[in-house]
Amino acid sequence: MRHAFAALASAILLVSCATTREQSLVDRAVDAMGGIERLAGIKTIVFKGSAKYWEPEQSDVPGGEMRFANESSFEGFIDAASRSTRIDWVRNFADPAPRTFTFSEIVTPEAGYVLGMDSNGRNAQSLKMSPPAHSMSGHRLATTIRELRRGGSAALMLAMQRNPDRVQPAGDIAGQPAVSFDGFLVAFDPATGLPARVRTLDYDNIWGDVAYDYVFSNWRDIGGRRIPMSRKAELNGRTVIDINFTDVRFNQAVDTTRLQVPAEIRQGAAKPAMRNVPHQWVMRRQFIGFYMDSDNASYDTRASQGLRLQEIAPGVHQVQGGTHNSLVVEMSDHLIVLDAPVTDTQSLWLVGATRAQFPGKPIRWLALTHHHMDHAGGLRGILAEGGVTLVVGQGAGAHFRRVLEAPATRNPDLAARSYHMTPILEVPESHMMSDSSGRQVIVYVMDNPHAKGMLMGWVPHARIGYVTDVWTPGPPLPAKPNPGLASVVNTVKRAGLQPERFAGGHGSTADYQMLTRLVGQ
Ligand SMILES: [Zn+2]
Repeated sequence: MRHAFAALASAILLVSCATTREQSLVDRAVDAMGGIERLAGIKTIVFKGSAKYWEPEQSDVPGGEMRFANESSFEGFIDAASRSTRIDWVRNFADPAPRTFTFSEIVTPEAGYVLGMDSNGRNAQSLKMSPPAHSMSGHRLATTIRELRRGGSAALMLAMQRNPDRVQPAGDIAGQPAVSFDGFLVAFDPATGLPARVRTLDYDNIWGDVAYDYVFSNWRDIGGRRIPMSRKAELNGRTVIDINFTDVRFNQAVDTTRLQVPAEIRQGAAKPAMRNVPHQWVMRRQFIGFYMDSDNASYDTRASQGLRLQEIAPGVHQVQGGTHNSLVVEMSDHLIVLDAPVTDTQSLWLVGATRAQFPGKPIRWLALTHHHMDHAGGLRGILAEGGVTLVVGQGAGAHFRRVLEAPATRNPDLAARSYHMTPILEVPESHMMSDSSGRQVIVYVMDNPHAKGMLMGWVPHARIGYVTDVWTPGPPLPAKPNPGLASVVNTVKRAGLQPERFAGGHGSTADYQMLTRLVGQ
């Protein structure tokens, strides 16, 4: 007994004496933000503000300027007792098409819900419910909880102070002392002691290992508590979200009935995913309003049986069943793949499916229609096979060389390897790939409104063309032609082709005549 007491006493002594550099950074931040009592006394937070979003990997030029994605206004509240948050959004999208989505997000530690329509890529539950509503996938819930934690500076500092064992040393970030806590790297302003930057080390399907930061500024004293009214999200140092709070109030009464959701969507709601969460995919597809809220990034688990290789003509197969497709052409002793969409998970599925169906015929060519993250994000999964030449449109070669040289050690799908030796073929106007039997696949650079250096695929023996994002073959055509549709017809004309059908990186297949009738040539 005496021994136990002595051991306990010395353990307490050890803990209390060991005020490490890390703990003192946290203590100083808590004090600078108003002190432990004031921060622990927060029962509710009611807030209002606006945010702008940019998407770097939907640029016009490969590796070029980011596209402005949307401007949002939001208001909401956090209820500490139920650990719940509600945010009401009005999101005005600029790209790829102007539109407004009005919706609410309700997040608890156990489940998350979306009331209203927040995406063009709606899942089966959202489509079924009237008005639209669905429960968040485990991926989205885990991502949303992570981002709420990142932004909740007061709660984060308190959690760090209360859990000193989880606060670990970390290297300085941008000249500021930092600590590591629960997957976050938190850097502190040496002058004020306030938290300055909260970083996660994320994985981006194009750029590999990336740093994703919230940078806090515009600190305001609200009833003795200091709160950053501005936060910029930086992806590898580029601002992709600019958030400004216009009003923050503590301990106001909140209407917790506004946390209630319809029973139909409560049932079977996912828990937060614990592993391999594609945080960047989940967030950035929401930036542009095309996120498919599903625990499989490739397809809606509520509606699709999964991906499949669909033969659309002899030797021509389209990956169907997901939100994004590839085309696979069987040659005499190898395969040609057009597009590597979404993630390496989808590409690894494709590699496995083609190996099973075409034994002894490895993928030799991967041609990407364009550089956007949703159609190129699985490139490593195919190139990792080795012996594959990457084919890209004019002006995209240097971009993809940089992409393949970027470190990709955090890829949840694929072991890190070097892609330095991957041959990249940049197509100036057109490029023909052929086999010993004379079968051909030709890619043509398109003059188009969607992305510079975009390629159209052409399979002569089947008279099938392949395009992505300028025409979605399958669904009804719009009433009037648009520049994307016209660019398909113009490319066909310029190349002197006689297509029967087109297959798409989205959709399925459609008769080419439908398009010429609309575009009028
Ligand atoms: Zn695109």
